[in-house]
Amino acid sequence: MQKYGGSSVADAESIKRVAKRIVETRKAGNDVVVAVSAMGDTTDELLDLAHEVTPIPDARELDMLLTTGERISMALLAMAIKSMGVEARSYTGSQAGMITDSRHGSARIVEVTPVRLREALDEGAIVIVAGFQGFNRDSKDITTLGRGGSDTTAVALAAALEAEVCEIYTDVDGVFSADPRVVKKAHKIDVVTSEEMLELAAAGAKVLYIRAVEYARRHGVTLHVRSSFNNSEGTWVVDAYDKEKMVEEPIITGVAGDLNEAKITVVGVPDVPGKAADIFEIVARTGANIDMIVQNVSAAATGLTDISFTLLKAEGEKVLTALKAEQGDVGYESLQYDDQIGKLSVVGAGMRTSAGVSAQLFRALSDAGINIEMISTSEIRISVVTRADSLNDAMRIVHTAFGLDGELDAEVHGGTGR
Ligand code: ADP
Ligand code: ASP
Ligand code: MG
Repeated sequence: MQKYGGSSVADAESIKRVAKRIVETRKAGNDVVVAVSAMGDTTDELLDLAHEVTPIPDARELDMLLTTGERISMALLAMAIKSMGVEARSYTGSQAGMITDSRHGSARIVEVTPVRLREALDEGAIVIVAGFQGFNRDSKDITTLGRGGSDTTAVALAAALEAEVCEIYTDVDGVFSADPRVVKKAHKIDVVTSEEMLELAAAGAKVLYIRAVEYARRHGVTLHVRSSFNNSEGTWVVDAYDKEKMVEEPIITGVAGDLNEAKITVVGVPDVPGKAADIFEIVARTGANIDMIVQNVSAAATGLTDISFTLLKAEGEKVLTALKAEQGDVGYESLQYDDQIGKLSVVGAGMRTSAGVSAQLFRALSDAGINIEMISTSEIRISVVTRADSLNDAMRIVHTAFGLDGELDAEVHGGTGR
């Protein structure tokens, strides 16, 4: 199983290059199934176009529109392969049997029935599948799996077809200790545990989509993230560090940054039981996901407290509207909205058994004059909120402070990083 991301199929030349690679894999004696993303920034461009037509595009129609991107690349790729004298067939998500629930824009895979893919493989053809899309049986409508969802397509097909390995081909040499576009001294990681990869993906490292990592972990799919621009070994996502081969697990494996979140502060909430529940029930009804939450101690004189939480910017507006509508019932004073925040996270399995990581992180940031606004932790991750415009500096500083800088500057091949 191979997956090629948008930056690997950005133009006709790239498609021909990828076709050659796929044919070589086939000629080496493998059955090959390929999931492919939309060319370059096509998905973003289609989204922009939709928003030019209407501020809130209809969810069903938006999925109809966005799935065309992957149909373009799958057909072109199949053509390129056929022109090399090798049989190839392209399939949409629904033809490939990617059955999902009905949530447009973030559908989940419920079943994979790749009957037609098996037939094509049995007939010796290379199979090309449009990534990022599925089909809901009840509504009989086309769905999409969320941004970055072609990774999930690849993993789900790898699981259903019991593929030996799921290779994720992209524009960098693998998973790095930080986004190489931001931290030039980032180094490639040879192996990473799925647990760390989940945390990194959730913290904003978009090299792998979080749902794909989850799916791979649940179904025992072996992931290999590598470059489509060269033949070097990439990053293997493993269940656990091989204690026999590795000296010890790294305390910090990687640093990630995220600029997609915003902070809402509910100011002047009565400090009595039930208010947090009220607020977060309102938020939950909007379907928005909350990331960090901070509640301050109330000033004794007023008996009022502030509650801040972070969420995706894209969901900010609807949550604010919902909270405003119930201001009277909850009894808070006002709302503040801040979309100029950045989230920095450090992730490492060795953190579990190592003291002082937080202190080292906070010291590095304070030495650089970067203010920390919120903090949250898991067993193997520490995240802090900073000003958005200091996030990239913060990432470089923290990367250096934890001794992660490599010898050479990391190479980024194609892509705009959009
Ligand atoms: P594709 O089009 O192949 O799906 P993406 O743009 O989704 O590619 O993901 C690859 C990009 O992810 C890289 O170009 C890089 O800028 C970014 N990235 C963020 N964090 C990391 C990381 N830790 N390691 C590697 N790449 C990262
Ligand atoms: N084309 C989709 C996106 O840009 C899916 C993907 O590339 O994985 O999000
Ligand atoms: Mg991607």
